[in-house]
Amino acid sequence: MTINVTRSYLGNKDKFKRYVDSIYASNWLTNHGPLAIALEERLKDYLGVRNIVLTSNGTLALQIAYRALGLSGAAVTTPFSFVATASSLEWQGIRPVFADIDEATWTLDPAQIEARIDHETRAIVATHVFGNPCDVERIAQLARLYHLKVVYDGAHAFGVRHQGESVFNWGDVSTLSFHATKLFHTIEGGAIVTNDDELAARIRLLCNFGIVDTDQIDGPGINAKLNEVCAAMGLCILDDLDAILEQRAEIAHRYERTLGEHFDLQRAQPGSQRNHGYFPLALRDEAQLLCVRAALNGQDINPRRYFYPSLDTLDYLQPQAPQPRSRALSDRVLCLPIYPGLPRGVQERIIRTLVREATGARATAVSLYRPLSTALDALRAPAAGVELKQSC
Ligand SMILES: *Cc1c(COP(=O)(O)O)cnc(C)c1O
Repeated sequence: MTINVTRSYLGNKDKFKRYVDSIYASNWLTNHGPLAIALEERLKDYLGVRNIVLTSNGTLALQIAYRALGLSGAAVTTPFSFVATASSLEWQGIRPVFADIDEATWTLDPAQIEARIDHETRAIVATHVFGNPCDVERIAQLARLYHLKVVYDGAHAFGVRHQGESVFNWGDVSTLSFHATKLFHTIEGGAIVTNDDELAARIRLLCNFGIVDTDQIDGPGINAKLNEVCAAMGLCILDDLDAILEQRAEIAHRYERTLGEHFDLQRAQPGSQRNHGYFPLALRDEAQLLCVRAALNGQDINPRRYFYPSLDTLDYLQPQAPQPRSRALSDRVLCLPIYPGLPRGVQERIIRTLVREATGARATAVSLYRPLSTALDALRAPAAGVELKQSC
């Protein structure tokens, strides 16, 4: 069985079928239908936020957020995120200006943000990367000082709390992704959260072509509606969320216990709780990363390089000042498989492979079989690649 970095969670099939039956009975497939409305209500409650508008994906959520805030000019953003964070700005005609990250938390470093602010800057667009909250207090101070809007890409931060409340309560707007690979998903989907009721109303309009009612259209909008089948998936999964989080935490703690002494891990933002949507790990360097990945791929286990390459290296976003911390981190971070139902035996194989690489235990193991290894070395001697492979 191939093991990937994640496996889409599918809830109870009978429950999903009952929702599908209700869709057949109502004949209501999309356009803010009863299931989308029910999901919005439950999410508002579950997350503890004031306004939530569902969207058809997390990228449109970002684009609509910028549009609703009337952004133009430039935005200071993070090079260590999924490409959609920066590309959505570019797509909206807002120039992404990268600032470097904090080496411990891997989120935007407020001092670096401040250094990039100039007369064109209108916003800070920051990612709660791997669900670790940004330094939201200091970013709020910068926003006040320089009159900037703050958008948080919260695609990884579902259910994350900071100082006892939803992390989505910081900033002007937070966006979520409910893509099938995310911790909570609706197959494809997303959401926009804001405490500002007027802004929420504008966002709702933008998601539905700017249509106010049957006879009134209030400016250009786009289609970002979540359909009823997708909403049904979300309703099913929401029921299982406590168990999902518990299983993820159990795996994450096992990885932390066994790997924490050998590798650098992301430092949690003080005052926050994690959701373990990802388990990122920083290897010594890129050579070790490639070696570990090859060793795991050889066992049909596929960790992923999130996020690589560092976004400040992308050709279509130049010119940019190079962001050395993001580049260095991006060269050595690997996300390990983590999801409910990941077999215990696979977790142990992953751990063994990594610990062996870190401690050089493989060399010891080989030396126990000296006659065989000597024979093999003789066979392999001319191949330079073998040398490299054994050294990591
Ligand atoms: C997944 C993701 C997105 C995009 O969400 P989609 O729903 O796939 O469009 C944006 N930002 C980050 C950080 C993501 O991980």
